[in-house]
Amino acid sequence: MDSKQIRQKFLEFFESKQHQIVPSAPMVVKDDPTLMFTNAGMNQFKDLFLGNKTADYNRAADTQKCMRVSGKHNDLEEVGIDTYHHTMFEMLGNWSFGDYFKKDAIAWAWELLTDVYQLPKDRLYVTIFEGDQGEGLERDQEAYDFWKALIAEERILNGNKKDNFWEMGEQGPCGPCSEIHIDLRTEEEIAAVPGKTLVNEDHPQVVEIWNLVFMQFNRMADGSLIKLPAQHVDTGMGFERLCMALQGKTSNYDTDVFQPMIQFIAQKAEVEYGKDEKIDIALRVIVDHIRAVSFAIADGQLPSNNKAGYVIRRILRRAVRYGYTFLGFKMPFMNTLVPLLCEQFEGVFDELKAQQDFIIKVIMEEESAFLRTLDTGLRKIDTIREELKTTNNDTIDGKTVFELYDTFGFPVDLTALIARENGLQIDEKGFEQEMQVQKDRSRNAAKTETSDWTIVNEGEDVQFIGYDHLEATSKILRYREV
Ligand code: ATP
Ligand code: MG
Ligand code: MG
Ligand code: MG
Repeated sequence: MDSKQIRQKFLEFFESKQHQIVPSAPMVVKDDPTLMFTNAGMNQFKDLFLGNKTADYNRAADTQKCMRVSGKHNDLEEVGIDTYHHTMFEMLGNWSFGDYFKKDAIAWAWELLTDVYQLPKDRLYVTIFEGDQGEGLERDQEAYDFWKALIAEERILNGNKKDNFWEMGEQGPCGPCSEIHIDLRTEEEIAAVPGKTLVNEDHPQVVEIWNLVFMQFNRMADGSLIKLPAQHVDTGMGFERLCMALQGKTSNYDTDVFQPMIQFIAQKAEVEYGKDEKIDIALRVIVDHIRAVSFAIADGQLPSNNKAGYVIRRILRRAVRYGYTFLGFKMPFMNTLVPLLCEQFEGVFDELKAQQDFIIKVIMEEESAFLRTLDTGLRKIDTIREELKTTNNDTIDGKTVFELYDTFGFPVDLTALIARENGLQIDEKGFEQEMQVQKDRSRNAAKTETSDWTIVNEGEDVQFIGYDHLEATSKILRYREV
């Protein structure tokens, strides 16, 4: 089954169970000060769960564009190093808003995975919430009983509060969850460690694919929990991980979601994927990051110097550096992946194709700008490494980290990454101090700049009537009261 069919089957399945298929919300969040990017399928339904809004359906399903690079969910450091965490990924989900609950959610998840998709039952594990005495939370016996009717008892594992109890925030809906994990190891690998399930142990071949959340409580401001009047279901399944399992692979990157792009870029770099770990990581980072950047631009978030825009810029620069150092790309290359990506998502996320030329242009310009200073910056780090060696020091000082940031456009996490590759670390505190000095300096500069302007009292209605004179360095603007 190719990835398009896999996605389609998911949506058809839940449509057949009377779910309304809804479009993905934008990945870039515009109206929530607590969140820059959508990080789970349920984000767009938050107000339904909170009871602030109602919908004309009580069951929904979709594939949601998600990004986990900041805040509570930040997987950036794992991406490319491991084979199953991405920056941008699709989360397949089904929801019940006060309608069905644990029984149907569990039965349908099982039916879809083992009947429709035909995943082997003896490779699946499920986890249920074991309870938490300190919190006065009971073990989720209901979920256990529903699972017991479907799967061998020894394949139902207990999970702790961290993995198996979901909370929207400090207050609000929460409840136990039940996750489905798949073991993709070979028979020999499994036999080599008898009795070990490796579930939730960050093993690359024993991965979590689906999380079923059962919202049954409301966490009050005083920390107490009360039963919700209406119970909800919120599920999320990693699409790329599902493709890995269904296509008989052991890495998300070996599926048709990523392989065409990996082959394209490997050919361009004249390397082969799967031969050298350093090169493989670079290829994985590049094909992962191009998705994050392209989808963000398609959703209206351009790379910039602050907030969400800077997250996008950082991700792009990270990929450019991997290509430059490990694949020898001295010219812009990321943008050449965009047509492939747009083609891949035709009919699924058409916002990409519709803006293909624009996305290419933005990425190309970003790449060119960074490549102008990248080489000098990297050589600077080389020099510093040699200097540090002679003094037996392993920390790049804050001033240098700041210079790399300010003059060479190196985001601090990129400098930290390069430092780590060289067995070094960075003085982050020192960097923050330098940053503060610069902020103060520009604030002072801004103060003097205002003296060039004709100041009008606040609140007065004014009309712009023209420049007194216009030079490169100082503009004098004139206003007239109206
Ligand atoms: P993990 O423990 O693997 O980091 P999670 O418990 O943080 O996953 P959930 O918040 O439960 O993930 O999200 C639901 C599903 O989304 C997961 O079961 C997984 O299949 C998928 N998923 C989560 N994070 C990522 C990611 N960074 N890249 C790809 N898929 C992901
Ligand atoms: Mg996670
Ligand atoms: Mg998990
Ligand atoms: Mg989970």
